[in-house]
Amino acid sequence: MQTRAFAVQSATTVFGPHTIERRAPGPKDVAIEVLYCGVCHSDLHTARGEWAGTQYPCVPGHEIIGKVMAVGKEVSRFKPGQTVGVGCMVDSCRSCASCHDGLEQYCDGPVSFTSTYNGPVGGGPNTFGGYSAAITVDEHFVLSIRHGENDLAGAAPLLCAGITTWSPLRHWGAGPGKKVGIVGIGGLGHMGVKLSHALGAHTVAFTTSPSKVDEAKALGADEVVISKDEAQMKRHQGSFDMILDTVAASHDLDAFTALLKRDGTLVLVGGPPTPHPSPAVHPLVFKRRAIAGSLIGGIPETQEMLDFCAKHGITSDIEMIKMQDIEAAYARMLKSDVKYRFVIDMGSLK
Ligand code: NAP
Ligand code: ZN
Ligand code: ZN
Repeated sequence: MQTRAFAVQSATTVFGPHTIERRAPGPKDVAIEVLYCGVCHSDLHTARGEWAGTQYPCVPGHEIIGKVMAVGKEVSRFKPGQTVGVGCMVDSCRSCASCHDGLEQYCDGPVSFTSTYNGPVGGGPNTFGGYSAAITVDEHFVLSIRHGENDLAGAAPLLCAGITTWSPLRHWGAGPGKKVGIVGIGGLGHMGVKLSHALGAHTVAFTTSPSKVDEAKALGADEVVISKDEAQMKRHQGSFDMILDTVAASHDLDAFTALLKRDGTLVLVGGPPTPHPSPAVHPLVFKRRAIAGSLIGGIPETQEMLDFCAKHGITSDIEMIKMQDIEAAYARMLKSDVKYRFVIDMGSLK
């Protein structure tokens, strides 16, 4: 099926209209009309070639909300007309230990999982994401959306920003009695604040943008710290169970490890194009602190997060844009000037 999309043809060209081919649904496939697609900083890193291995033409987009158009013969969970979501993965090996555990993002298969755009993680044919009118996906990787019609655009960012913060918050036990820090209040960070607060943790937002202080409190932060202010940082020394770092640029990690309690963990999810400066060892060894990483989240935990958000009325704070405005949106994202996620209205592609 010939499908309208927006693509970049190289790391240095701007987005423009592009036609892609979508497969007709096989027995286990769901054909989806894309209604909304969130704009993740990973889209920008990939389109601009900031991470190694971008395949061009590149059609990003992995925060997809749409309506089912057609299903294959063996599809049992979905029917035409239903609202569904697609996140960062469209396939995996389905047989390794990680896939069996519902952690497809850590698939140990020969090419790891198949990302929604830019092909399988370990190399292979290109895939095209949600900056397009339609997508065909195996039902295993299709999520049920239980938000109301008016909340669908705001639910789109849950498919990456939501799950990427939910998975580590759950894994490291964010909840009542825990003190959790969220660093970088952008697309991921603002969801981290909302979810940590909803899980019952004492939530502290760290931002470099003074303009976000009051808003971060409205998002659910109990306290907000300007991370460039040493005196403010010092007040929190040795007090956090967990700090989730969503920053998209390389920066000093020691400022945050010093804020962890004994056995506390700094979890990195941001993927800066250049490495962070090496962390100092002493602040880690003296308090048995850890630095860890976390990648998106598995399909079962993504459904759990979506259902939790639908139940608690949680969506992303969004600014809706037309597909044609994507370059301006990227420019603003680079200035940390997004409140707090751009979502593309895919009707603008018509
Ligand atoms: P975003 O909306 O651009 O937010 C990033 C935030 O980081 C900014 O709003 C800003 O917050 C802060 N920041 C930016 N530059 C900074 C700098 N030089 N120093 C300090 N703080 C800075 O990006 P996003 O979509 O949330 O994505 C964040 C990162 O996570 C990206 O690298 C993305 O690729 C990555 N990511 C990883 C996963 C995963 O599975 N691990 C999944 C999705 C995305 P303040 O204004 O509050 O300081
Ligand atoms: Zn993403
Ligand atoms: Zn696997």
